[in-house]
Amino acid sequence: PAEPESPYRVVLLGASGVGKTAFASIFAGAADSMDSDDCELCGEELCEKEIEVDGEPAIITLVDMWDEQTDNEWTQEQYMQTADAYLLLYSITDRASFLRASELRITLRRFCPARHTPIILVGNKCDLVRRREVLTSEGCACAAVFDCKFIETSAAMQHNVWESFYGIVRQLRLRRDSR
Ligand code: GDP
Repeated sequence: PAEPESPYRVVLLGASGVGKTAFASIFAGAADSMDSDDCELCGEELCEKEIEVDGEPAIITLVDMWDEQTDNEWTQEQYMQTADAYLLLYSITDRASFLRASELRITLRRFCPARHTPIILVGNKCDLVRRREVLTSEGCACAAVFDCKFIETSAAMQHNVWESFYGIVRQLRLRRDSR
């Protein structure tokens, strides 16, 4: 089997309440008790885990430390400058969180101008169809403007959450292979 790549540091970003903790729990395996020992370095806000993507292992260190309420700009800057990739979350039921994602994307561009840092714009809570405030087409258009990928997910239904992690790994590999 291929050697695992060095850990990729993936940071969850987004307004409060969009589902970052839910994403981190699914990644850590908390939502599936069979898997709960899988995580080698699990804390509240940091989890390192090997996953297999397209038949090749990859190690992801998932960082869920973003806290808009308590963090100052300096701390936020640290998260933004130390990541290999980002999952930029909003909730499809909360237009303000969608606007916040745009702001964060602009801030990211300022802090990590290195091009090709993989970012996936994630519209979470797509199970809440009747409370939808942001159309799929709007998310899609926004991602096109931002030059990033787009996916709609439901952490509650465990829909597309792993797809978003696989997507990040695929983008990181594309970047690695093009070097
Ligand atoms: P965070 O502040 O970004 O970490 O958001 P949380 O992960 O704590 O989620 C905020 C609330 O939204 C919690 O009550 C979650 O159970 C709920 N939630 C998260 N993801 C989903 C989802 O995909 N669908 C639904 N219906 N609720 C969700």
